[in-house]
Amino acid sequence: MAVKRPDEYLERAKGMKPRVFINGKRVEDITRHPVTRTVVEANLASYEWAQDPAGAKVLVRPSHLSGEPCNIYNTLNRSTDDLLKRAAAGLYAAERLGTCIYRCVGCDAFNALAATTYELDRDLKTSYHGRLMDFLRHVQDEDLTVAGAMTEPRGRRDQKMQEWKDPDLSLHVVEKSDKGIVVNGAKINISGAYASDWTIVMPSGARQPGQEAYSVSFAVPNGEPGLTYICQYNPFSAEREMAEEADDLGNPRFGQRETSMVVFDHVFVPWERVFLCGETKYAGRVVTRFAQVHRMVCGGSCKVGFGKVLVGAARLIQEYKGLEKVPHINDQMTEMVTLLETVRACSKAAAIEGTEIAPGSGVYFPDDMLGNVAKLNVCNAFWRIMALAGDIGGGLVVTMPSLKELRNPETREYIEKYYGFGSDTPASDILKATKLIQNWAAGLHGVGTWHGAGPVQAQKIMVQRLANYDEMKDLARQMAGIGRPKKADDAKA
Ligand SMILES: Cc1cc2nc3c(=O)[nH]c(=O)nc-3n(C[C@H](O)[C@H](O)[C@H](O)COP(=O)(O)OP(=O)(O)OC[C@H]3O[C@@H](n4cnc5c(N)ncnc54)[C@H](O)[C@@H]3O)c2cc1C
Repeated sequence: MAVKRPDEYLERAKGMKPRVFINGKRVEDITRHPVTRTVVEANLASYEWAQDPAGAKVLVRPSHLSGEPCNIYNTLNRSTDDLLKRAAAGLYAAERLGTCIYRCVGCDAFNALAATTYELDRDLKTSYHGRLMDFLRHVQDEDLTVAGAMTEPRGRRDQKMQEWKDPDLSLHVVEKSDKGIVVNGAKINISGAYASDWTIVMPSGARQPGQEAYSVSFAVPNGEPGLTYICQYNPFSAEREMAEEADDLGNPRFGQRETSMVVFDHVFVPWERVFLCGETKYAGRVVTRFAQVHRMVCGGSCKVGFGKVLVGAARLIQEYKGLEKVPHINDQMTEMVTLLETVRACSKAAAIEGTEIAPGSGVYFPDDMLGNVAKLNVCNAFWRIMALAGDIGGGLVVTMPSLKELRNPETREYIEKYYGFGSDTPASDILKATKLIQNWAAGLHGVGTWHGAGPVQAQKIMVQRLANYDEMKDLARQMAGIGRPKKADDAKA
């Protein structure tokens, strides 16, 4: 049986000994530190859902390699129906976690690499695809968690890689032997890697001849020698470190979207886990295919799940305040729902209109235009939804006291009296719902949603590239009675 129990993951996580630092200190046990524990909890939830029949319907599907049931995050999208299920899984996870499902990037990396290694083997007679499938089979059989790193940081953007003062600024191969490769470099933003069994590394962009060392993809196990994880740290991390009770924090179990920088300092990777090494022409394909599927999910359905939680919290506050019949508040609620449904529609349509890429590979990718539009829409929609939820929540969203005051005998009475709105709802519920809004509206999610799956300009470039302006011009000419110019394509745009 390839679907493992939550306690099996927890036992593995307890055994993980990655070199992790947070707030200047070493984390000895990622399952016990209050911040890193949230990542373990989110991964655990993915195993819990798979045990539940309703969750399994969304999150379990057969492996195309073994026929055994597998967690969807360890499978390939082999039809448009699979793409729809992948989008649905993103929504399901996000609305239950309110943070990243840390197995998402690894899943999309598997798909991008599966199509590209298929082409590599076909064109260059390499053996990358077989290696990748062996690795995928291992991950499926053991139901392992896999993070994904599209490697930055990248040096100055106005220089060629070869001109950078420090060649490590993008991850690259520094040694090759008959046993494998040694890599140096770093990845700045990676979701949850320190609690994942494996991390798949991909190049961060297209590569040119002369950049062979930077055209590399591979998998590394958690805590491999040479790996250091340096965690993000912000006021929410500090608050969690100091909290007496997680219940005070808005999203008690799963917290914020936790990332870390991962440094690769002379990390050895055996050949059986190398999936690209030097073939510059194919690096860009890994990147664009990864983005193609990731924008449908991370930029689409997942953010709808986040948004639903935020709308739900705003609705609770609306009711607690007795504002159910107020037209402008209901108008704001309608606007939030409409924005989310637009993104959900784009994400779903991207799946339905998906196609096999690298014909013969058997791997399906969403429609690129619709996936990019889903992500573009969500970037702006999320800021708007945060603003509207902030309006409904009122100033309390940023002025609320600590929930600890409810346990302080000197202040409890005042808190209960004045934050209870004179309603039947206890002040603790009102403050918890407000804290949840604070987590989103005054938190990390605006910028996170903007940049996750690539900044907005990357999607705009794709839309500009994919838009069929010739067809649109023909339509306009036809309607206005303008003849077609002699040259077939007069488009200079
Ligand atoms: C919460 C969160 C979780 C993440 N998790 C993961 C993960 O698990 N795995 C993963 O691989 N990645 C992850 N990312 C990384 C994410 O994909 C990147 O942050 C994103 O691609 C933007 O890259 P950047 O942060 O380097 O920003 P930059 O690339 O520095 O972008 C900043 C601005 O500069 C512009 N810019 C950058 N380069 C150029 C150029 N050459 N020419 C013109 N303009 C340019 C951009 O368009 C943008 O406007 C995560 C990010 C966040 C915020």
